Amino acid sequence: MKKIALHWQIIIGLVLGLIYGLIAANASWQDFTADWIAPWGKIFINMLKMIAVPLVLVSLISGISGLKDIAQLSSMGGKTIGIYLATTVLAISIGLLAVNIIKPGDSFSDEIKEQMVAQNEAKVKDTEQKANAQKESGPLQFLEDMVPANIFYSSADNRNMLQVIFFALLFGISLIMVPDSSKVEPIKKFFDGTNEVILKMVDVIMLFAPIGVFALLGNIMVELAGEDPRAALEILKGLAIYSLTVLIGLALMVVVIYPLALKLIAGYSFKRFLEGIAPAQLLAFSTSSSAATLPLTMERCEEKLGVSKKVASFVLPLGATINMDGTSCYQAVAAVFIAQVYGMDLGISEQLTIVLTATLASIGSAAVPGAGIIMLAIVLGSVGVPLEGISLIFAVDRPLDMCRTVVNVTGDAMVATTVAFTENELIAHPIEK
Ligand code: ASP
Repeated sequence: MKKIALHWQIIIGLVLGLIYGLIAANASWQDFTADWIAPWGKIFINMLKMIAVPLVLVSLISGISGLKDIAQLSSMGGKTIGIYLATTVLAISIGLLAVNIIKPGDSFSDEIKEQMVAQNEAKVKDTEQKANAQKESGPLQFLEDMVPANIFYSSADNRNMLQVIFFALLFGISLIMVPDSSKVEPIKKFFDGTNEVILKMVDVIMLFAPIGVFALLGNIMVELAGEDPRAALEILKGLAIYSLTVLIGLALMVVVIYPLALKLIAGYSFKRFLEGIAPAQLLAFSTSSSAATLPLTMERCEEKLGVSKKVASFVLPLGATINMDGTSCYQAVAAVFIAQVYGMDLGISEQLTIVLTATLASIGSAAVPGAGIIMLAIVLGSVGVPLEGISLIFAVDRPLDMCRTVVNVTGDAMVATTVAFTENELIAHPIEK
């Protein structure tokens, strides 16, 4: 029997999950879903997270130890950060353009605004606290945070990915610097071999993907439908134009900017790129987390797009943590939308402030569900838009989070492919049919 391609397996899980969720929400199967369906989604996400730290550590060390010299690393690093920043600024500009042309805030009714502000007071306070915790740090805090005091401690928490990257980089660089290479040969072999095993683990875990995705989607649908469906419909209508504006911004990134960058920089066919990366996009949509998707993004880039291990192991973990084109585009749209609802006219200097703060906010957003809306609080603060405005967009944040995470992951893979090309590290690989 012919094996069904991974993306089809995930799509089947996704669609069945949606159908189940709709039926369960209508039939009030909330408890059954929480007890018997949701845990499978959690188990699936845990399995993905379980291998994220070992995968990043091992593949980065194994990738770097294969570099010619350190100069290659710095050239790769410079390009990666440069393209990451450029695409983020582009994503924000596209978001700003869309929201200023469409003006979704102008058609938002005052009645719904008041109702939502009243309803979400507690959530706003919570977000404010979390955002303040992020803000109360000095300008060099991010550098300080990147350097671990104890690598075992860092490896125990997936949020410390940058610290793991730092350790792996230092380890890998030191490994190539050892003068008598015969002494470190066994270490290199050990990491190369372990890397192969972990990539196999990704394959094994992905066998479970259809069930995991089914459970994740089924549960999200039941949770989203938890509130009064009629009120929810009213709110959704009010937020439809806003959501559409975010989606237009996100879509422009995926169907215009990324294909152009792939073609112009690497001469790479977008169709081929999509075929290779589609399962990671679907997983990003189902999990709303670039961090949980990372193992699959790395595997697909290496095995289907032809990105060498050296490039993939460096560019992708870094991208999952700092490069979020979808999140930054969404933050720009959301900030201006809220300002519009509050009747504020943001001038060119405020819009430029948004470009700057949304860039920083997206870099600072963790690669987990709902991180983008917390950092949005900082963007709002920078242009004087009332924080309580966040209450207007909570209702649609999860579905938009699912979509922006797809863009975050696609952007990382695009940069990995283009950097690999410019570094002569793109290997031709057959695509799974
Ligand atoms: N969920 C997104 C991610 O993991 C971050 C966000 O909330 O925008 O990429």
